[in-house]
Amino acid sequence: MDYFITTFCNGDKYEPILEKWMTRIKNKCKNSKCVIFNKINIVLKYGLKYAWWDLVRLHNNLKMLLRFNKPIVHIDIDLIIEKDIQPLIDLPYDFIISKEIGGDEAYPKECSSKLGFGICSGFYIIKNTAFKFLLKIFELMINNKNNYSDQVNIMNYIVNSNYNVHDEEIVLDNVKYINKIIEIDNIKICVLDFDIIVRDPIINNGQFGNHINIDNVGGTSNFLKYFDNDLEKLPLTCRCGKKHLGDNNQCKHIELRKSRM
Ligand SMILES: [Zn+2]
Repeated sequence: MDYFITTFCNGDKYEPILEKWMTRIKNKCKNSKCVIFNKINIVLKYGLKYAWWDLVRLHNNLKMLLRFNKPIVHIDIDLIIEKDIQPLIDLPYDFIISKEIGGDEAYPKECSSKLGFGICSGFYIIKNTAFKFLLKIFELMINNKNNYSDQVNIMNYIVNSNYNVHDEEIVLDNVKYINKIIEIDNIKICVLDFDIIVRDPIINNGQFGNHINIDNVGGTSNFLKYFDNDLEKLPLTCRCGKKHLGDNNQCKHIELRKSRM
């Protein structure tokens, strides 16, 4: 075993997914061991401010990093792994994280407008060299009066620090990707090309994971279909035009899927 994959699973929306999620990871990621945080093995001592679960999982991930000294990968329960992530583990960076949808308008917008892109904490890899950095982030999260979100606190920390950012091209399975490398506090953060871990996926394009919003596809039982069926034969996973979710935009992805298939 070379690395741990962890997740936090709690509540009726997510618990029915756990078994399929774990089986998928066991089949794809040969050198990994899964560890699940839930109500049974964690102490919910942080109260119920927005994104308290981000605190719980980071706290446990840092504890595991200290204890085992192996890379710790967090993967959201609504993120379906499509390929062995070992090549991502092997990237020579201290902290590796997926990219948020929306470019320079990604959540939180006030930060991504400065950075030019956003990070998505649905998938991240912590190496032991990033321990100090993430401990600092953890303390910022705990002390943030408004919300505990790792994504929001990391983005705020970056844009308010001295940092350099540059593009780095890599090839994985014959596909070219461009990652964003952020140099900060003497570590290197790699923000993965959006096409490596895809939010609201449209087609199969060699991605390592599909991060699908459960509400966008109409709930847990519909979401589970994305494990067993071809993505391209299932309804689109975007929010566009779903009026019950408050989105009145017209969907441009329908045409995009047709033209790329
Ligand atoms: Zn759409």
